[in-house]
Amino acid sequence: MSSTIENNIAKLRQRIAQAAQKYGRNPDHITLLAVSKTRGADEIAQAVAAGIDQVGENYLQEALDKMDNCRHLPVCWHFIGPIQSNKTRAIAERFDWVESVDRLKIAQRLSDQRPPHLPPLNICLQVNISGEASKSGVPPDQLMALADAVALLPQLRLRGLMAIPLATQDEKLQRQAFAAMFVLYQELQARFPGADCLSMGMSADMEMAIAEGSNWVRIGTDLFGPRAANHSAANTPL
Ligand SMILES: *Cc1c(COP(=O)(O)O)cnc(C)c1O
Repeated sequence: MSSTIENNIAKLRQRIAQAAQKYGRNPDHITLLAVSKTRGADEIAQAVAAGIDQVGENYLQEALDKMDNCRHLPVCWHFIGPIQSNKTRAIAERFDWVESVDRLKIAQRLSDQRPPHLPPLNICLQVNISGEASKSGVPPDQLMALADAVALLPQLRLRGLMAIPLATQDEKLQRQAFAAMFVLYQELQARFPGADCLSMGMSADMEMAIAEGSNWVRIGTDLFGPRAANHSAANTPL
């Protein structure tokens, strides 16, 4: 019997394929990242059994406990939450990707603290594309200066951009924000051809993100089911 998570993943793959078809994208170029905040190791294992190999976590301590229970699973771990500077060492040691870098001090610490026997840490810069005071992210007009500095750090690999636009049901507004991200992404790629990742789109706005060029969608709710209310807001510190 197939599990709910397995069914949800099948539906998400269908949604990705349909959006790709509609907007002229290659579905093979869109990776589904499972956002597992508040979820248990058993649920991650079910997702992996259904083909997931990229997992995103927001809260360090929660992630570390889970990672210990998921050691046997072949997954890449992405840190996608706000980063306090006293948490960078564990992030540098345990994660494969960090998608929420928005200032140089954090990037420097991650590079310094990345163990030399590990490959460079993959980095996406988080952009505050909707200019929300409550949200993390570098303002768009400071992005390229940050990218230039991050690209020089030896133990990091600048891979692209991440954004969490203003939550809205209005597809036109969703699409505007994602389109603005795509412009920044192209600018980044012109400077750094190795940057190949545009991480945008969550359960409620995945289609519009795909329409505007996302190649990583980060899905929690529509993959694992609804979260408890105090965990519902994306990317906010506990
Ligand atoms: C929680 C979260 C997601 C997933 O959001 P859903 O709406 O549950 O799909 C994606 N990205 C980040 C940064 C998050 O914090």
